[in-house]
Formats: sequence, C-alpha cells, structure tokens
Amino acid sequence: MSKRMNPAARVTVVALAAAGLGATMVTGAGSAFAAEGKAVAAPVAVTASAAVAAQADAQAHVAAQVKAAAAKATAAKKVAAVKKVTVKPVAAKKAPAWVKPVSAYTLSASYNQGGAMWAHKHSGQDFAVPVGTPVKAAGAGTVVKAGPNGGGDGPAYGNAIVVKHANGTYSQYAHLSKIKVHIGSKVMAGQQIALSGNTGNSSGPHLHFEIRTTPNYGSAVNPAAFLRSHGVSI
Ligand SMILES: [Zn+2]
Repeated sequence: MSKRMNPAARVTVVALAAAGLGATMVTGAGSAFAAEGKAVAAPVAVTASAAVAAQADAQAHVAAQVKAAAAKATAAKKVAAVKKVTVKPVAAKKAPAWVKPVSAYTLSASYNQGGAMWAHKHSGQDFAVPVGTPVKAAGAGTVVKAGPNGGGDGPAYGNAIVVKHANGTYSQYAHLSKIKVHIGSKVMAGQQIALSGNTGNSSGPHLHFEIRTTPNYGSAVNPAAFLRSHGVSI
C-alpha cells in the first residue's frame, strides 16, 4: 500500500518543490498520509495549500500592482498640477490694454476738423455725453497733469487730465466737471478718473480726448486711429 502511494507523494513533492514550497514539510506530510493509507487526500491538501500560496503570491502581485498604479496616479496628478500652474498664466484672460474713455456717447467733432471753435485744427476727438458721465483712463499709466486751466495746457481745456502711458504715449481728457485723480496717481485701463463736464472753451457737454506723443499741447495724433490700431473702435 505504502509502496504504491509513494510515486504520488513524490509527484506532490516535485510539484510543490516546483511551486517553491519547502520540500521537507511536504515530504513529511506526504509520508504521514501514505502511512495511514490516505495518500489520495494528500495531493488535494497539498494542492490546496499550493493554490493558497499561489493565490497569496498573486494577491501580493495585485497589491503591488495597485500600489504601483496608485503611485502612477499620484505622479500623474503631480504632473497635472505642475502643468496647471504652467498653463494658468496663458489661460488667464488678459485685461484689455486700451478702452474707450466713455461707455455711451455720440461722436461730435473729430480730429483735425476745422471750425470757429479752434484757432487751429481740432486736436482731439469729442464724445458728446451729459455732464457727470464717468470718464475712464483709456490705458494704464501715471497721471502727469490734473487740474483747472487744462492742467497747465491753457484755459480752453477747462479742467483736464493727462496720463502718461508706456512707449511715449499720453492721453488727455478735457472740459471735465470733476477730477478724481492727482498728479502721480497710477491708473488702470478703464479706471474712472473723472466726471465729464462743460468747462473751458466748450460748445456743450462733452469729453475732449487726445492722444499725444508728449505731455503737452501741440503733440496730438489722431486718437480714433490710435485706438483702432489698439483694437478699440469708437
Ligand atoms: Zn474737442
């Protein structure tokens, strides 16, 4: 009996040895079963334990894979976070560099227009608006003139402001009823700087707007063309 069972036990030993289990323990178990004449049960039990071992091994693999996947996901998240930070400034909406000095208006006298109102040609663009209409800085910059008498340019302008922008560009706002900034004030494009009026040599309530190449009278360029070249149509 035990002689007949030996080959089966040996096969089990070989199988288990192949599975990487300790041969000593398996041999002992196989012998014990064989001695009692229950060798048939031995392979089943051993196979079961081998399966358990294999399963444990597989689970360990799965656990390792899950761990690796989690690590990968974390890494991916980190990469995404880094990408997000890198992309953000590009995606952020840029504020417009130039805007209209008043929101609602009727265009009246335009640049270079002749007439009895001006000793020379008209030096700016007029926007007809009711007295008290918010006047906004057309671009970001620093206030270099602000006050009556055209801020120093002459009484014809009434209360006026001149803002210095980058690249040797200045903007001027005249005939104001109220000035809300001071010389040295930093302003943003679209920031309210005054209320429109009818001060100085003015034919009626309106904003007189100039773009200049210096802070002073006499250096004006076509403001409508300037705004248009900066993406603003009036
Ligand atoms: Zn004007």
